[in-house]
Amino acid sequence: MLDREFFLGFVKVHILYHASKSPIFGAEITDELKRHGYHLGPGTLYPTLHRLKREGYLEQHPEAVAGKVRKYYTITEHGLAVLNEARGKIRELVEEVLENRQS
Ligand SMILES: [Zn+2]
Repeated sequence: MLDREFFLGFVKVHILYHASKSPIFGAEITDELKRHGYHLGPGTLYPTLHRLKREGYLEQHPEAVAGKVRKYYTITEHGLAVLNEARGKIRELVEEVLENRQS
């Protein structure tokens, strides 16, 4: 779906932001994204998390929770640098797209 592809960048920023606040895991981030209006199935979420890990933005920490292994993700130094760069771009985008609109 084209819309999903379009919004995936926003989703990545949300994931990096939340991973910078506290360790996150798949089901939790699915609920958080749903709260923001992004409905991601596991077929989109997990490949996205893995890509962020492969690109060095997130680190995975498996932890045993109630007899199961839960994969927590935390942000890396590189991820934090990218998130901070994104913050500047988001500010610029908001200023242009929301605050300078002519309508
Ligand atoms: Zn959020």
